[in-house]
Amino acid sequence: MDILKGAPTVQAMFDKMQLKLMHLEGYQPHLAIIRVGEKPDDIAYERGAKSRMEKTGLRCSCYEFPADISMEEFEQSFDFINNDDDIDGILLLRPLPKHLDEAKIVNKIDPEKDMDGISPVNMAKVFMGDKTGYAPCTAQAVIELLDQEGINVSGKRVAVIGRSLVVGRPLAMLLMHKNATVTICHTKTQNAEAICRGCDIVIAAAGCAKMVGTAYLGNDTTVIDVGINVDENGKLCGDVDFEAIKDIAKAATPVPGGVGSVTTSVLAAHTIRAALKKRGLED
Ligand code: NAD
Repeated sequence: MDILKGAPTVQAMFDKMQLKLMHLEGYQPHLAIIRVGEKPDDIAYERGAKSRMEKTGLRCSCYEFPADISMEEFEQSFDFINNDDDIDGILLLRPLPKHLDEAKIVNKIDPEKDMDGISPVNMAKVFMGDKTGYAPCTAQAVIELLDQEGINVSGKRVAVIGRSLVVGRPLAMLLMHKNATVTICHTKTQNAEAICRGCDIVIAAAGCAKMVGTAYLGNDTTVIDVGINVDENGKLCGDVDFEAIKDIAKAATPVPGGVGSVTTSVLAAHTIRAALKKRGLED
């Protein structure tokens, strides 16, 4: 089985980004990461994103707010960041604490600064195949990895397990724009295993540790694992039981070191694009 690591995609994206940065003549695009509270997952992602920005030559500012911040106070700070001309892109770590009106904030985010494609404008663009928008970073990371590995999805049957607005649904759209025949499976899908067995590519984005085993694989299946979970021993694992499928699948992405490692590169690429767009140097 081929192991589809994220590293070659990360390197190829890094090289492309360095070329793009040259057009900015020394200007360093600036990403703002907004975090409310101290969730370990958010802190880990923030650390990874900041490190990726710095390695790429971008600026990254982290705005941290207490978990009990009032909506009024948070909205004020958010508006300030959203309107700051020195900030090219925003990553809002979600979900926000329940007492905050997340939908209101999502609707406010400037679509040109919306690096994770959460605003209605960018979602619509992903739906329409309008490439002037920003797709959610994880969904786009899967596409980048498939492209880098030379996996052409055109005419292929692809199962996406998971229908969340941040991964499964936008990913299905991006795959469809590349002429894949896509089936979305979710918690109410009957015979998901059989559906997946009939597909050339299975993409797991369900958030269930090691749920995809051999029963989901047909002959020569390529398996892409988006999941980031913790197993019974406290170890990081994906939605795919990698040990079980490794002698059966045609190819598979590992966790860690697969799709997850590409996500922050997409975030950096989006931030560079935002800075280029502002100057009329890119669509
Ligand atoms: P989510 O909980 O919002 O959505 C999960 C989806 O999977 C739901 O639509 C649900 O219907 C479906 N699902 C759950 N169990 C299922 C089952 N047994 N069979 C079929 N469908 C099932 O999660 P999410 O935010 O979309 O994230 C999915 C996974 O991807 C999580 O493990 C998350 O940690 C990971 N993730 C990774 C990255 C990355 O950078 N690689 C980024 C975001 C999320």
